[in-house]
Amino acid sequence: MSWEEDSRRKHPCACGKGTWDEVTRSDDWNRSESYAEINCEVCKRTHRIEATHGHDEGMPTSSYRLVPISK
Ligand SMILES: [Zn+2]
Repeated sequence: MSWEEDSRRKHPCACGKGTWDEVTRSDDWNRSESYAEINCEVCKRTHRIEATHGHDEGMPTSSYRLVPISK
């Protein structure tokens, strides 16, 4: 069983030097999931991903945004 990446949507990160990505992937059994990751050494330290899970006409949806880590 292996996960395969279906899509990767890149967003510019907060400092502008890297990206944060939304990734959707599915496995051989048609399960799918999504997650987001920060691909920037600077923003990894100063920001985190906030996930919002909801439903759209019965389909689970996830949306992500980059938020500053409050000190
Ligand atoms: Zn950055």
